[in-house]
Amino acid sequence: MALPTKLTLEIVTPDRALVTEQVDEVELPGSEGYFGVLPGHSPLLASLQVGELWYRIGNEKHYLSIAFGFVEVLPEHLTVLARIAEKAQDIDVARAEAAKKRAEERIAAHPRPDIDFERARVALMKSLIRLQVASRARTRA
Ligand code: ATP
Repeated sequence: MALPTKLTLEIVTPDRALVTEQVDEVELPGSEGYFGVLPGHSPLLASLQVGELWYRIGNEKHYLSIAFGFVEVLPEHLTVLARIAEKAQDIDVARAEAAKKRAEERIAAHPRPDIDFERARVALMKSLIRLQVASRARTRA
C-alpha cells in the first residue's frame, strides 16, 4: 500500500482550535525530547513539554510555542491537545520579556519560603520559548 503524502494537523487548546492544515512534516517537543513526524508514521501517543513546535507546508515552516499536553499520531492525522499554545505571530514579546524577568528574579532569590522554585523554572522556560518562537520569521526549510 502506498504511504500517505500529507498529514492533517490539528492543534487545539482548551479555548480554541488553533491550526487545521494539511502539512508535510511536524516537529514536536515531546516529554522525552523533540521528535519529527512524517506522513505514514506509526501510531503513537506522547506527552508534550514546554517547547517549540513547527510544521512544514512545502518549503515554508510555521512555528508555535507549546506548553504541556498530548499528541496522538496516526499515519494520516496528527492531533495536538495543548494545555497552552500560541502561534509565533500572536506572541506578545513585551509580556514574555516581563515574565522572563520576573522568573529570573524569583530564581535568583531562591531559596526563600515564599518562592516556588519549580513554578519559576517553568515560567522561565515558557518565556524563553515564547521569545525564541516570536523571533522566528517564516523561514525556508
Ligand atoms: P504571564 O506571566 O505573562 O501571564 P504565563 O506564562 O503565566 O505568562 P500562561 O499561564 O502560560 O501565562 O498562559 C495564559 C494565557 O496567556 C494563555 O492563553 C497563553 O496563550 C497566553 N499568553 C501567555 N503569555 C503570552 C505571550 N507572551 N503572548 C501571547 N499570549 C500569551
